[in-house]
Amino acid sequence: METPVDTSQIVKFATLDDLLALGRANSLWPLTFGLACCAIEMMATGMARFDLSRFGAEVFRPSPRQADVMIVAGTVNKKMAPAIKTLYDQMLEPKWVIALGNCAICGGPFVYPNQYSVVEGVDKLFPVDVYVPGCPPRPEALIEGILELEKKLTGKRRFPEVKIP
Ligand code: SF4
Repeated sequence: METPVDTSQIVKFATLDDLLALGRANSLWPLTFGLACCAIEMMATGMARFDLSRFGAEVFRPSPRQADVMIVAGTVNKKMAPAIKTLYDQMLEPKWVIALGNCAICGGPFVYPNQYSVVEGVDKLFPVDVYVPGCPPRPEALIEGILELEKKLTGKRRFPEVKIP
């Protein structure tokens, strides 16, 4: 059987692509799930004080089939890894991943010689788009991660970066 030709590299609808990217960037729908303490920070980000809806990303979906961004918030242990991979596989394309906190990035404080239970970085299971470091990262850091993801989609940053002197 002939392999279908990938026309996406040949035919480009620049304005339509830009419009789709803008729509996607401004209405990210995260998957509702958390693994450990970083998930509490993720929940706080959605509450009134930090108000994630200002950035269009507050519609946490209960089904991977309705979500387009996975925020991996917490420790990924080897027993849980197959379930997380299944959730990722069930999300439709295009989809993105934010690794929230040191555990999701590299195993965090649970990495020591001969440890046997923790996956040392969720990027060992599937690709990660944005890394948000911290143990735990504050809600502002997650918001910054979402802005970085938006920038990855549209090529532009919605708000100017704050330079810390
Ligand atoms: S990075 Fe720290 S706060 Fe986040 S899940 Fe790991 S131990 Fe908990």
